[in-house]
Amino acid sequence: MSLLDIVDLHKAFGGVRAVDGVSFAVEPGELLALIGPNGAGKSTLFNLLNGQLQPDSGQVSLNGASLAGLPPRAIWRQGVGRTFQISQTFASLTVLENVQMVLLSQARKLFGLWSRAAAHEPQRALGLLEQVGMAAQAGRPCSELAYGDVKRVELAMALASEPQLLLMDEPTAGMAPEERHALMALTRRLAAERHMAVLFTEHSMDVVFGYAQRVIVLARGTILAQGDPMQIQGDPAVQREYLGVGQPIEARKA
Ligand code: ADP
Ligand code: MG
Repeated sequence: MSLLDIVDLHKAFGGVRAVDGVSFAVEPGELLALIGPNGAGKSTLFNLLNGQLQPDSGQVSLNGASLAGLPPRAIWRQGVGRTFQISQTFASLTVLENVQMVLLSQARKLFGLWSRAAAHEPQRALGLLEQVGMAAQAGRPCSELAYGDVKRVELAMALASEPQLLLMDEPTAGMAPEERHALMALTRRLAAERHMAVLFTEHSMDVVFGYAQRVIVLARGTILAQGDPMQIQGDPAVQREYLGVGQPIEARKA
């Protein structure tokens, strides 16, 4: 039994087999990249894992317990976290308030109104912000932050639920290369400190090969290859189908 076990998962949209017989496991604390061309089925797979979508068939279990049929909220409470984008509505709130919002909604779910006041205690929220290096900016509205800093706050918000597994679908999209590396270095440190597994998708191959401990390559809804970064870089099928040969990485995005 692993932290997460995925067995023969299928999901079709009309005639499109977005996820077509995917099986793999995620071990505690590992940093695992899911890569593949656009339309490979990465986001669909994420949504099957977080409960946004229900599979046509197949099994997903966390610590041996099936997640079948559970709504997103329940899966989140069981320990599968995900990053959410801070919406425009909440961008006017301060960094601290955004984290407190998550703690409050979580506390309400667990203990009802009793914990309302406790969740408003800023200490836990500040502690989370410290972990992502944003405590000094706790009082600023999120709308004033640099993009990379917003992403760090979103990461702090995702940590509020103490996830055993964190799902990050394209966490560095829209970021400059330097910011990407900073966010992934932070993610790697947090994963190690908290013994938290992270499953992430990413287009930038230097980020994938620089940070992932293991890589799964998805193509047309099926797993084309999996292994450590060295194995994946040297895999002929991956070279042919995805990485291409002799092209700059950014041109290979699609
Ligand atoms: P990726 O994240 O790897 O780019 P997606 O999971 O978004 O891939 O998409 C996989 C395939 O499923 C694509 O062909 C896409 O058009 C299709 N698809 C994804 N979501 C839906 C949906 N809600 N309705 C119909 N087709 C979808
Ligand atoms: Mg996607």
